[in-house]
Amino acid sequence: MRRLYIFDTTLRDGEQSLGITLNVKEKLEIGRQLVKLGVDVIEAGFPASSPGDLESVRTIAREVKGAIICGLSRAVPPDIDCCAEALREAEQPRIHTGIAVSPVHMEKKLQMTPEQVVEAAAGAVKHAKKYMSDVEFYAEDAFRSDPRFLVRVLEAVIAAGATVVNIPDTVGYATPWEYGELIDYVMNHVKGIENVVVSIHCHNDLGMATANSLTGIKAGASQIEGTINGIGERAGNTSLEEVIMAIYTQQARYGVETRINTREIAATSRLVSRVTGVPVPKHKAIVGANAFMHASGIHQDGVLKEKTTYEIIDPEVVGIPRNSIVLTARSGRHALKHRLEELGYRVSQDELENVYQKFLRLADSKREVFDDDLHAIMGHAIANGNGIILENLSVSSSGATAATATVTLEIEQQTVTDAAVGNGPVDAVFKTIDRLVKKPVKLEEYTLRSVSQGSEALGDATVKVRWNENSLIVGRGISTDVIEASAKAYINALSKIK
Ligand SMILES: [Zn+2]
Repeated sequence: MRRLYIFDTTLRDGEQSLGITLNVKEKLEIGRQLVKLGVDVIEAGFPASSPGDLESVRTIAREVKGAIICGLSRAVPPDIDCCAEALREAEQPRIHTGIAVSPVHMEKKLQMTPEQVVEAAAGAVKHAKKYMSDVEFYAEDAFRSDPRFLVRVLEAVIAAGATVVNIPDTVGYATPWEYGELIDYVMNHVKGIENVVVSIHCHNDLGMATANSLTGIKAGASQIEGTINGIGERAGNTSLEEVIMAIYTQQARYGVETRINTREIAATSRLVSRVTGVPVPKHKAIVGANAFMHASGIHQDGVLKEKTTYEIIDPEVVGIPRNSIVLTARSGRHALKHRLEELGYRVSQDELENVYQKFLRLADSKREVFDDDLHAIMGHAIANGNGIILENLSVSSSGATAATATVTLEIEQQTVTDAAVGNGPVDAVFKTIDRLVKKPVKLEEYTLRSVSQGSEALGDATVKVRWNENSLIVGRGISTDVIEASAKAYINALSKIK
């Protein structure tokens, strides 16, 4: 069995595409969960892109142990210096530097000759090697490059000391057989390729990122790059969970093994969705809510007779407990903790007490507490806890659209109350909160969905607010009352602004 390395770029390619700003605490939470999942490399960010990114890569490098921590940089010395600085305290640091190699990128974007590109590529790797031994080189837009030129670039960077070479399909243009052929060509034509790890990085513009990654692996690549839930530029990156489970279900076909703990997949997916505010479609492979649901009578009948008739993956393998027990107000702390652990949450004793009180309040109001409710409570508990508390909220509607909201908040131990009129109840509430918190933001997105079934279901509100030009902040709020859920989401976003 060949070892396949899993390279996660949720915090770099994923975050960069969303335009949102995750705070350091949120990034750390994702980083720690990725270690639990067992990924080999965490690409934590692009340090030269902003002081905020530099700081969060530095923090992840210092705090997250158990995986290689990688930073992205262009093939220019100041970027590389900044990247090295961000990674200084990492246990296992890696610089990921590179340059575009396709004719259109070289001519139009870089305005460099192929000669100059080869020189810059080798120079960047040499420069990075002054700081550390582990240096990955990416040949941007490799799939649309001239394969003979690609070979030249790769030979130059390998000679300069690259330990990993990444051959991306940057624009998601490849089909599986073409991508497989390119990797095969590289494996057979590049001098010294046997001494480095060949990495693949696909995008999903034509819906083929997973398929392309699998053919890349068959052709000899031993590192795959991707994100959790497939988030990323445009149509997204390769969904790591899909590739991992494709290999898991047919390991003999691929002849590779990973050190992934598949039972952490569901929890990782939920965490990323919660923190980024990007919902997972219900029909999404592996991690969608319906991925293991059998709806038609014929299928249900088959599964009851023999699971494997319609089920290729045991849901427990990806961390979805088979028996959904229902908790009530009579369930104690122990039962709650046990269930939360099955659902992928590790809570400390202090956190448990806090979560238990929330659980009791919910159990009182809706009697039965389902898994979805627990995810919602946990999402709320994690999102909350910084500075602003919603004390009281009342809304009265007058006429078809106008509404008046009265809101009481506790801001840094001070109780403040105000009221405002708005275009509907949610608008009135947000306007009132604006008057109280006094942080001028622009609401860019507001979504509300129900997280469990029935009329007593919890409302799960997500807002995205723009704080300054390049800072989009996500807030989330959960409540059985949808207006209150919306208010909490808005407060949660505002409380993240420093
Ligand atoms: Zn990418």
